[in-house]
Amino acid sequence: MEAISLYELTLKDSVVLQNKKRILSGMRPTGKLHLGHLVGALENWVSLQNEYENYHLIADYHALTTNLDTEELYQNSIDMMIDWLAAGIDPGKSPMFRQSQIKEHAELFMIFSMLITTARLERNPTLKDQVRDLNIENVIYGHLGYPVLQSADILLYKGNIVPVGEDQVPHIEITREIARRFNQQYGDVFPEPEAKLTKFARLPGLDGNIKMSKSAGNTILLSESPDEIKSKLKKAVTDPQKIRKGDSGRPEVCLVFTYHQKFNPTETAEIDAGCRSGALGCVDCKMKVASKISNYLNPFREKRMYYESHQSEVKEILKSGEEQAKQLAAQTMAEVRTAMKLG
Ligand code: ATP
Ligand code: MG
Repeated sequence: MEAISLYELTLKDSVVLQNKKRILSGMRPTGKLHLGHLVGALENWVSLQNEYENYHLIADYHALTTNLDTEELYQNSIDMMIDWLAAGIDPGKSPMFRQSQIKEHAELFMIFSMLITTARLERNPTLKDQVRDLNIENVIYGHLGYPVLQSADILLYKGNIVPVGEDQVPHIEITREIARRFNQQYGDVFPEPEAKLTKFARLPGLDGNIKMSKSAGNTILLSESPDEIKSKLKKAVTDPQKIRKGDSGRPEVCLVFTYHQKFNPTETAEIDAGCRSGALGCVDCKMKVASKISNYLNPFREKRMYYESHQSEVKEILKSGEEQAKQLAAQTMAEVRTAMKLG
């Protein structure tokens, strides 16, 4: 009797396992990761890897929109994987792979580019923000099509959930539109994926910019030492009305307070009161959060050191992730061809 019920349990479990929803989420290999990447997306990837079947993409084709140096992109990809692994991505559960190694991304991107108008892509607010922030004078065709390639990335793996920062939400909306359009035209092949945001979906930068971003040079890298974190925080912009200790400040306009909310949640009431009354000066407030951020990153730092000195292991993990991703991509592309009667 005992044996049968155990068998039944295993069967039931395997059905549940097969019905797990899938996550597809990626990042561009633009260098080492910063706190924005961690709190906006990566932490969600790690915490959801048991509940979902996770696939993580190194968007090296997407990175070509702003950097054509492929050797640099390769090194950046390895650096980024080291950060992912150090943050807790489990390679046994979550395959990691480069977009450029799976040819189906390009094929599906081309098909999807027939299903969306240029006017729709020109309205994309994320593109508008990037053009402004990076001072881009002439937008390349690939940049306009960025969300179309991203739609192919997500739908090739039939991703149901996409954990991303707030700037990516318009792209997920475009992905849903393309999936709907394809399904209407050729039959039901794709799910309509949903974005999943964290509480800190847009972490501000040290200069007061609303988004911490590599291109704005306002970041704290996950790999930085406690001393580097301190010296960066010293220069952080705070409430301009609070010039010296004793002045009353406004936590709601201060990025350092946002960092307290994330990295020092148990003391926020005290920090808020001290800032408003003037009893807490900005230097003390910054040093408090610097040490909290350092503590937060301690386990990460240790794991990072391990992978930095075991890069061949990282490359093996990448290779095996790419083999797994290739299988799924080929399977979906075969379904697409059948649905489109391109067999
Ligand atoms: P950078 O400009 O620093 O290279 P990025 O936004 O171009 O950053 P992506 O590879 O496009 O980097 O983004 C990776 C993921 O991290 C996306 O889901 C993005 O929304 C998220 N992300 C990036 N910066 C932040 C931030 N400051 N706050 C929250 N999430 C962020
Ligand atoms: Mg981006």
